[in-house]
Amino acid sequence: MKQIALLLKLDLQRLILILIILCVSCLFIVSVFILNHVIKAQLMENSLSINEKYASKVALSTDQYFSNMLQELKYSSNIISRDFSNQALIQQELHRLKYQSNNFNSVSVIDSTAHIRHLEPQHVKYDSKTIYKTVGIVESLKSKKTYISTPYKSIANNLIVLMSQPIYSPDQQYLGMITGSLYLHKKNLISQILSTTYSYKNSYMYVIDNNNKIIFHPNIKRIGETIEVNTGLAYMSKHKSGHIQLVNSEGVNNLAGFAHIPSVNWLVVSQQPTEELFEQANAIIIKVAFGIFIFYMILFFIIWKITQYISSPLHGLAQMAGMLSKPETEQEIQNINPWYFEVMRFRTALLFSSKKFKDKISELNLHVNTDPLTGLHNRRGMQLFLEELQNTGTEFAILLIDIDFFKAVNDNFGHDQGDHMLKVLAEQMKKNFRENDICCRMGGEEFAVLMAATDKAVVFKAAERLRKNIEEITAAMPTPITISIGISYWPHDSNDVKEAFKQADNRLYQAKNEGRNRVC
Ligand code: GH3
Ligand code: MG
Ligand code: MG
Repeated sequence: MKQIALLLKLDLQRLILILIILCVSCLFIVSVFILNHVIKAQLMENSLSINEKYASKVALSTDQYFSNMLQELKYSSNIISRDFSNQALIQQELHRLKYQSNNFNSVSVIDSTAHIRHLEPQHVKYDSKTIYKTVGIVESLKSKKTYISTPYKSIANNLIVLMSQPIYSPDQQYLGMITGSLYLHKKNLISQILSTTYSYKNSYMYVIDNNNKIIFHPNIKRIGETIEVNTGLAYMSKHKSGHIQLVNSEGVNNLAGFAHIPSVNWLVVSQQPTEELFEQANAIIIKVAFGIFIFYMILFFIIWKITQYISSPLHGLAQMAGMLSKPETEQEIQNINPWYFEVMRFRTALLFSSKKFKDKISELNLHVNTDPLTGLHNRRGMQLFLEELQNTGTEFAILLIDIDFFKAVNDNFGHDQGDHMLKVLAEQMKKNFRENDICCRMGGEEFAVLMAATDKAVVFKAAERLRKNIEEITAAMPTPITISIGISYWPHDSNDVKEAFKQADNRLYQAKNEGRNRVC
């Protein structure tokens, strides 16, 4: 885990970023999953219900047509029954029946011995001497009642449905029947009702009779075929109307609504391939998912910005923790806005550490830059002050101080006494100069003072005061000493500090030459 974290350079911000990406992705996937489920379920429910309603409506209106057509036949039967022997009457009535409404493809009058008396339209040929024993004629004559056949092959070899009404004489003698036929393979009334520009989302409709024989189908070649492989058939024939998901004879999954035509008990099925519906659903889902995606991207961006705002002070503090030694770190820590508890505590702790660190460093620096014997700044320490003075452009005077005949002190009274006298001089220097004058031991018995003053009279006075003090104070000591001082000014004497020091050294040399114990 730790190695992975190192490998990914994990920090709080990256962790949060990964977390947000994970959350938003999960949210998106779950949303699309639910969306997919809900939309498909809803569309399926709609499709089933619409198909059922449509099948019911078509079944009812077809039933209404059939009853009207039977009524038409009945009316003609009544007229013909008044004078069944009158061939002209029969011809005239059939002509009217055929062409007034054009509901039937053909109409005929057949007597009780199965001989055709007349048939319209006249181009359909028949033989008036032949006994026609087609299924429809035989069954209808046998029943002597209102009759609707199942599909069968007619005299003229058309697949037809035959409707008939019996003809009874006024004294109730059965004379024969009047028939109307629908040619299933030609344009007929059923096909007109069912194919009326009905195309709700690739739905289609078909009608089968109670022997599962197809009476109407958009694929005209299938009319007359008997359906066997259809997973919904058993359920549909058992119920008056309803809906069901079925696999049809072509192996296609469909959402079907169905209803029976009451008078003939034929089944009207309206169905839509499930796959088609899912394609529509997918198109909708893609559109909605895109919308959700945009929304989540905005959400992601807002959360990311907020968490960045929350984590950035911590991130900043953590980075500062590695840079406590840098002088600007303390200021940077102070710049961080401690707007919540953890940051406030962390920041306080860091500031505290930074201060301790700085104290420790300056303590160490002090050791490095201080002369251990006298406690004055050493050459290194002086260098720092020189840089500071130069950087800030502060004008200053250089006082170089050298003890006169110091070698003799060492020689006559020992090195320790020499050191003691060095300390005495350092003490006097500290007392003599102001706090912001910088007193240094350059090495040996040579000292220097950097005075942030340019008034030569003032500088000279201070140098003279030191010289006098040393002379007076040490007079009573076993080893009285005097000092010589050379003064120069920066940048008055030279812009180059080294050069200015050389000037002071020259003047010190001059003081020595002029008899020592003096200021030049
Ligand atoms: P002058 O008046 O020309 O300066 O004479 P001087 O004897 O002081 O001559 P010089 O500056 O050449 O001698 C410096 C002497 O200071 C040499 C050395 O013995 C002594 N000295 C240098 N450093 C130390 C020190 O740290 N402690 C002690 N006790 N003596 C030192
Ligand atoms: Mg010397
Ligand atoms: Mg000397």
